[in-house]
Amino acid sequence: MDGKELAARARLEVAREVEELGLPIGLATVLVGEDPASALYVKRKREACAEVGIESIHRELGADTSEEELLALVEELNGEERVTGILVQLPLPEHVDEDRVIRAIAPAKDVDGFHPVSAGYLFQGRPTFVAATPSGIMELLDAYEIPLEGAQAVVIGRSNIVGKPMALLLLGRNATVTMCHSRTRDLPATVRAADVVVAAVGRPDTVTREMVKPGATVVDVGINRVDGKVVGDVAEDVREVAGYLTPVPGGVGPMTIASLLRNTVRAARYQGAHLAFPRG
Ligand code: NAD
Repeated sequence: MDGKELAARARLEVAREVEELGLPIGLATVLVGEDPASALYVKRKREACAEVGIESIHRELGADTSEEELLALVEELNGEERVTGILVQLPLPEHVDEDRVIRAIAPAKDVDGFHPVSAGYLFQGRPTFVAATPSGIMELLDAYEIPLEGAQAVVIGRSNIVGKPMALLLLGRNATVTMCHSRTRDLPATVRAADVVVAAVGRPDTVTREMVKPGATVVDVGINRVDGKVVGDVAEDVREVAGYLTPVPGGVGPMTIASLLRNTVRAARYQGAHLAFPRG
């Protein structure tokens, strides 16, 4: 499954939507510290914004920034009209309470979908802002017309930003979902029963050829650096048995950014129309 190509098409669609909407749309990105991977992700997100006509408002803070300073910045961005979406790049330095910072973001600007309000709506099956990675994966599965209704889906990894929302989205589409994690007793047997496998662990070769049912769809979310090369969580030879497989790089990564753009437009649309958002 070619995420790069699909994401390029999605960006064109978003660019058209931004133009038609005619509203000011601004995504604030907050980067704390000097983690090179985080800096690269933020750079890619800002470049994508520029490509589709979304204003990018960038704030960079030192690694020694206090939690209070960061909370004050989020509060300031919550109040800025030209900022219609806020993204605080994770992970944050250890002395900062990540959950507290996420909770400080106005739910109406929570384009990452990490705020408990957004997560709660997803839990109830009434999604507002859905985390960009699982939401991009759904777009990819739909583009390739992967049947989900009644399918056996296995999600490996239970993080709040990938595994859990992924499982809820698949459940929302009537898949029969199993969640696996570090304490799962028999991962190979569980994966072998799956029509759709999503691996979001952060460990190379978590899914191997012997574990995959022939013809199954395998989504590789992992980003691991091995000998200077970026690899996913799925072993290379899985391609010999899988019906569909996402490459790393060029699979889930570009779709994640496309989904972030879609969330950002959605936020601006609601704010521009002065709609109460999220509902309730
Ligand atoms: P995380 O570290 O928060 O969660 C990892 C999960 O894997 C945990 O729930 C853990 O229980 C599970 N796990 C660990 N060892 C396991 C094992 N041996 N067997 C089964 N499960 C095991 O990670 P995350 O934030 O969800 O990210 C997962 C991976 O996806 C990372 O490599 C990350 O870099 C990548 N990622 C990619 C994108 C993208 O856009 N492509 C976005 C987010 C995360």
